[in-house]
Amino acid sequence: LGTDVFDEAVRSTCDVASHCKRYAISVGYWKDPYIEYFVSHPKERKAPEISRGYYARVQGVGRLLKAFLEKTKCNCQIINLGAGMDTLFWKLKDENLLPMKYFEIDFPSIVSRKIHYIKSKPPLSKPIMESHSGETLLIDAHGLDSSRYAIIGGDLRDLPRLEEKLKKCHMDPDLPTLLMTECVLIYMTTEHSTCLIKWVGGMFRSAMFINYEQVNMADRFGQIMIENLQSKQCELVGADACRSLDTQKERFLIHGWETVNALDMLKVYQSLPPDDIKRIEALEFLDEKEPFEQLMQHYCLCWAIKDSQNLGLADVTL
Ligand code: SAM
Repeated sequence: LGTDVFDEAVRSTCDVASHCKRYAISVGYWKDPYIEYFVSHPKERKAPEISRGYYARVQGVGRLLKAFLEKTKCNCQIINLGAGMDTLFWKLKDENLLPMKYFEIDFPSIVSRKIHYIKSKPPLSKPIMESHSGETLLIDAHGLDSSRYAIIGGDLRDLPRLEEKLKKCHMDPDLPTLLMTECVLIYMTTEHSTCLIKWVGGMFRSAMFINYEQVNMADRFGQIMIENLQSKQCELVGADACRSLDTQKERFLIHGWETVNALDMLKVYQSLPPDDIKRIEALEFLDEKEPFEQLMQHYCLCWAIKDSQNLGLADVTL
């Protein structure tokens, strides 16, 4: 695929993620009053395996994120890389858990769309205005910068420009920082994702990097997954597809990160409170457990820590 066609297909994955989330939310897996402003209700049903997988993803990332916010007492910043239509900022505001500043980055065309939704829907714009103080709020089609929320159009493969844009929006390298990539690094070449991990490691004194994505795609089931996804044009898997849990960890460790954990999503799912599992398993009937378990073993949650300020971040766990 040419770069433009590939990038366009990568941008379309943002809709896949938000449709799957919206569907699972409509069935009752978890609550999110904001997703409806970003995506219409999907016409087709999604398989229960998919919704259970999204549930584990949202819970797993959410638990790590809350532990980070607790350790830093919200005196921190969050940078959501490849954020798509993520609604986390609005949910954290409702829970009184906003960090000092929350940044989102995605391709400019995705960002323009998100800004359009924010501008035209008061339930989205009001929380941004409410949390804003001081100077005028900067907003145009390609970016928005307020006191607590910024959204930036850019390319995660162009780090000098990204750094410049983040600094313009008052990103503070001395503030403990949580970076998150949910199904994002897999769409970049190994070289680009490694540069991003290295750049973050060098930029912040105390940081946590949460990465969620496919893993073990080199095995037979993984290959079938890739073919399936590509035939539906719904997800493309980049050069990182052969990563195992060990190589997921290695790329952080060799680039200056101190502690790294990686679990496949079956382990994450099994670590959820038994009452939660019971509740969601009662929502939709699943014929056979095995395909679900196989699918979950092909996604992973990885979190890396760097803690020069001794905040105890290495204790963060699921
Ligand atoms: N993280 C969101 C979520 O979990 O709902 C969206 C996930 S979606 C599968 C991947 C997102 O990463 C898309 O919105 C895509 O545009 C963005 N993305 C991928 N590569 C990127 C790059 N090089 N620069 C900026 N954004 C990128």
